[in-house]
Amino acid sequence: MSIAENIAHFNKELAPFKARLIAVSKTKPNSDLLQAYECGQRDLGENKVQELTAKYEALPKDIRWHMIGHLQRNKVKYIAPFVHLIHGVDSLRLLREINKQAQKHDRVIDCLLQIFIASEETKFGLDKDELFDLLKSPDLAEMENIRIVGFMGMATNTENQEQVRSEFRYLKNLFDEVAEAFRSEKVQMKELSMGMTGDYKIALEEGSTMVRVGSAIFGERNYH
Ligand SMILES: *Cc1c(COP(=O)(O)O)cnc(C)c1O
Repeated sequence: MSIAENIAHFNKELAPFKARLIAVSKTKPNSDLLQAYECGQRDLGENKVQELTAKYEALPKDIRWHMIGHLQRNKVKYIAPFVHLIHGVDSLRLLREINKQAQKHDRVIDCLLQIFIASEETKFGLDKDELFDLLKSPDLAEMENIRIVGFMGMATNTENQEQVRSEFRYLKNLFDEVAEAFRSEKVQMKELSMGMTGDYKIALEEGSTMVRVGSAIFGERNYH
């Protein structure tokens, strides 16, 4: 299937859930991204700052760029002028840096807090205690140039669908709890970024508002 057909398929599949498709274009050439663009796809996701910046410079300026990978503090400055949403924020130190760089460009940058929901050791993210510490921090209230608009989570990479479902359900419950307890100008819980090629159907059923899909749209990635 072509990129255009894949995007049409996802638009149809997502419509009843009112969820948004973030087309994950990492490692793919600009020509592939342009094909997606020509089908009306405006939300693209990348996980490396250098690649994200190069693609931003080369491609149409109305693309909404989502930084979905782990973000190092010393690289925030490169994406601060244009990034639409940062999905993987997992510390107050990183938020402080995003706030500082956003200020230089006179913008407010929307961020998702990455929550650890998987049973694997390698995945990044906050646990529940760290999350509540962050949300209660007096520092957060002082940051004028960031806004927390929801959570991002990655489920365990497993065939066990029930495990994946329960991890997404846990994240949705936490999302609802925080939406209830922390509503403010700084914290506006609107987006729940969960689901990728292998588990987006379960994520949609469990309340995802944004799925981050790469290989099912652009084909398998070749890292060589
Ligand atoms: C690569 C990536 C995706 C997309 O993965 P696919 O399995 O190709 O859909 C989603 N989220 C993050 C954080 C990624 O790094």
